[in-house]
Amino acid sequence: MTVNEIISLARKEKRTVLTEIEAKQILQEAGISCTETKLAPTREQAVSLSNEIGYPVVLKVSSVDITHKSDAGGVKVNLKDQAAVETAYDEIMNSCRGQFPDANIEGISVQGMAKSGIEVIIGMTKDPSFGPVLMFGLGGVFVEVLKDVAFRIVPLEKSDANQMINEIQGKKLLEGYRGQDPADIPFLEDMLLKLSAFVDKTPEIKEIDMNPVFAYKEGAVVVDARIILDDE
Ligand code: ADP
Ligand code: MG
Repeated sequence: MTVNEIISLARKEKRTVLTEIEAKQILQEAGISCTETKLAPTREQAVSLSNEIGYPVVLKVSSVDITHKSDAGGVKVNLKDQAAVETAYDEIMNSCRGQFPDANIEGISVQGMAKSGIEVIIGMTKDPSFGPVLMFGLGGVFVEVLKDVAFRIVPLEKSDANQMINEIQGKKLLEGYRGQDPADIPFLEDMLLKLSAFVDKTPEIKEIDMNPVFAYKEGAVVVDARIILDDE
């Protein structure tokens, strides 16, 4: 589906929240690399999609009503075979149905397990006076506890993307800390510029949250994404 088709479908269904699968499709079309993610409405389909994608896989609840999937027991990573996928499918469903009895659950999303990297977050929010603003930071405790993030107003210039990444306090972690691989900073800059260009031409979007993005020595990949549309 194209960006417009995904937005029209959401409008038709009277929802502003896109699923992770829809969000990743949109980002992928904007040139931003995401883990390939597919919807399994049944346990059997979760197995056949896992076989198709290749193990290890990750299963996640797919519901626009569940924002924090792992808090709801809705994420199972590193599933190595068919039996693990079957068990994970049931556990996710039981946990999420138990915690959110009223949530509309469309199924379980299946995606490849990305190799671990440096976790960063990239987002977009709309400021009442400045319009769309992009955010960049390190993931996990760095954003949650330390609020170590940088902001720039869309559209970004190349120098903005570079400065954003360079001004975060945890910058050293991106340069390879204690023998860890460094992050591909030019690639992250390019992701920010692609996101800026996309946001600039897609005014219907109110919020984008890519959390986390795994950054590698070469390249980076979005493993979780959320998009919220403006009210009509
Ligand atoms: P939540 O809704 O709780 O934010 P996420 O989709 O971010 O759920 O998944 C929780 C965590 O699981 C992520 O922070 C990441 O560490 C890990 N994870 C999610 N998807 C993948 C994946 N495709 N490959 C590897 N790890 C993943
Ligand atoms: Mg997440």
